[in-house]
Amino acid sequence: MHEQNFPKKKIAVRLLSWVMITALLVGAILGLTQVGLDALRAQDEFDADANQLLQVVKQPATQAVYSIDPELAEQVIEGLFKRTSIRYAAITHPDATVLAERNRPLTESSSRWLSDPLFQRERKYSIRLLKNDPDPVYYGDLVITIDTALGTGHFIERSGIVLLSGLIRAAILGAIIFFVCHFLLTRPIMMLINSIAQVDPSNPGEKQLRIPRGHKSDEIGTWVTTTNTLFSEISENQQKRRAAEARVLKLSQYDPLTGLPNRLMFTNHLENALEDARRLKQKVAVFCCGIDDFKSINEQHTYSTGDQLLQMYAERLTSSLDTPLIASRLGGDQFAMLIYNVGSAFKAAELVDGLIKGLNKGFVLNECEEVRLHTTIGITIFPDDGEKPDKLLQKAEHTMTLAKTVSRNQYQFYVASVDSEMRKRKQLGRDLANAIEGNELYLVYQPQIDYQNNLITGVEALLRWTHPEQGNIPPDLFIPIAEGEGSIIQIGEWVIHQVCAQIASWRAQGNELNVSINLSANQLKQPDIEVTIQQALEKHNIPPSTIEIEVTETGFMENMEQATEKLDMLKELGITISVDDFGTGYSSLSYLKRLPIDKIKIDKQFVRDLFVDDDDTIIVNAIIQLGKTLRLKVIAEGVETLEQETYLRKNGCEMGQGYFYSKPVLPSEVIKYIKSFNRE
Ligand code: C2E
Ligand code: CA
Ligand code: CA
Repeated sequence: MHEQNFPKKKIAVRLLSWVMITALLVGAILGLTQVGLDALRAQDEFDADANQLLQVVKQPATQAVYSIDPELAEQVIEGLFKRTSIRYAAITHPDATVLAERNRPLTESSSRWLSDPLFQRERKYSIRLLKNDPDPVYYGDLVITIDTALGTGHFIERSGIVLLSGLIRAAILGAIIFFVCHFLLTRPIMMLINSIAQVDPSNPGEKQLRIPRGHKSDEIGTWVTTTNTLFSEISENQQKRRAAEARVLKLSQYDPLTGLPNRLMFTNHLENALEDARRLKQKVAVFCCGIDDFKSINEQHTYSTGDQLLQMYAERLTSSLDTPLIASRLGGDQFAMLIYNVGSAFKAAELVDGLIKGLNKGFVLNECEEVRLHTTIGITIFPDDGEKPDKLLQKAEHTMTLAKTVSRNQYQFYVASVDSEMRKRKQLGRDLANAIEGNELYLVYQPQIDYQNNLITGVEALLRWTHPEQGNIPPDLFIPIAEGEGSIIQIGEWVIHQVCAQIASWRAQGNELNVSINLSANQLKQPDIEVTIQQALEKHNIPPSTIEIEVTETGFMENMEQATEKLDMLKELGITISVDDFGTGYSSLSYLKRLPIDKIKIDKQFVRDLFVDDDDTIIVNAIIQLGKTLRLKVIAEGVETLEQETYLRKNGCEMGQGYFYSKPVLPSEVIKYIKSFNRE
């Protein structure tokens, strides 16, 4: 909407002033003409009146001059002076000597300013005094002057009325013309200005202007209809132009064949993604995917088949991964992908694996022929490999080109060390899948000492893997890989069975021992984990109370409801539940009341720093106190020195586990150790 402009000069006002001035001028001219004519008539009347007066006194005046009778002459003059308008009167002899005369001063009058110029101050009349017997003889003159101020009052009054009424008439006419003009012209124009101000310039045809009432068939109505038509046409034109612009924009930002963003657009997306990632301290991965030997596909088939394949490929590229991403066609057989919040290089490797798996599946052409495409992918990670979008993309492209020269590589990380590390982990993951069958896994057990009676009553089962080529792989390395690959489920099950078998075997030898099993978060999410455990217990015929489950806080915090349900069921079986690595995870402790927890395990990092770091000492004390308050058993792991043990005991920790007593050892060693320890 634009700002509304109000006219500085209004037509009606201008018209009003013009009409008023003209009407008043014309009124004044006409009035004055009338007054002028009236004045002439009044003069005539004056003259006629004076002449008549002279005629009346002619007789006695002639008599007086004839008989040279000054007395009579005086009387005549006296008689004339009864009229107040007579200013001067005289009877004279032919030689101009005066027989009788009289005068009086001019009267004061407020209308003299008007009457004097019109009628002169005073008017002079005379008559020759003749006596005709038989021929007329001239004896003298009778002269009078008349004061015009008297006797013109009437005329002035009349003139005033004439002038005033003329002006009023003109004013009324002007006002009528003004109002008619206002209602017929100015008001509708203002209404139109108002509705034009409401018109949206980007779509003027959207709202039609309303024809002011009563103007449908006059010029204003026609103007509105014409303007509306014009607006609609402008809108139509604008829409066409916008559609054309959108088409051009799409062409400039998207690849016409696949509909994917082109390089330019992709770089923009990448730039935004990097900005967010920088702020949120996240990692972003850029994959550059090249189809291997697409040239020969084009040669073997038609170009349109090639295009069709590229379209299918693009579609699969965008739908293969279940993670926020943007795919783009950089040109020819080259595509790019940006993965938001990728977490780690390792996670990127996992994603790339899934992507390649999806892309390597056959594409069915025309419902009969299947074509397989192979993809090589170059990977860069923000911020490790670069900060700028074009640098990241360029490096990913170079990496991809390089990887293509080494034909067996399906993907390659930009940084060689990351690449080989990823490759190693990936290989470990694959090897781990065969570890059970290859008999490469085994369990060691670490004793747990009950500080109250100084006896070893339990052990923790810890997994070991001897890789056929690389030897012992630490669980801190392979457990996360197994969790990522999903093989932890199978391995975890193997551990449960293994432990149950071990307990049964120990029991057969007369050794009553409780064993703690570490349960991964993924295992806890399994719908039938409690069934698995129960079956293992039944199979080996051991009581559930000999089993303890160690879960980390992360293990159940992710899905509290499900975890509560699972742990409740395990608890009901008679299994002890323990929280591993206590103190390292969540600060919220509310779960301690919701979950059926029996035991908390102070993480070894706090025990290690017991006398080194005051904070850790405080944490250890707090955990012990917490256990007492909530009636949970407290065990410390990672006890390495007598000093630590003494402190823990003194402060009320109930159990301990660590190298100070024994490293995790093979089952046969465990029994030996326990026997010697418990005897002491
Ligand atoms: P964890 O559950 O916290 O296990 C305790 C780790 O501390 C063990 O490392 C153990 O050898 C080590 N340890 C025991 N006493 C001491 C000590 O005095 N000082 C020091 N520095 N370390 C001590 P390990 O065996 O390498 O296991 C590492 C982690 O691997 C375990 O941490 C656990 O999270 C995981 N893990 C091991 N076996 C299994 C398993 O069967 N299933 C699952 N899900 N995870 C397992
Ligand atoms: Ca543990
Ligand atoms: Ca631990």
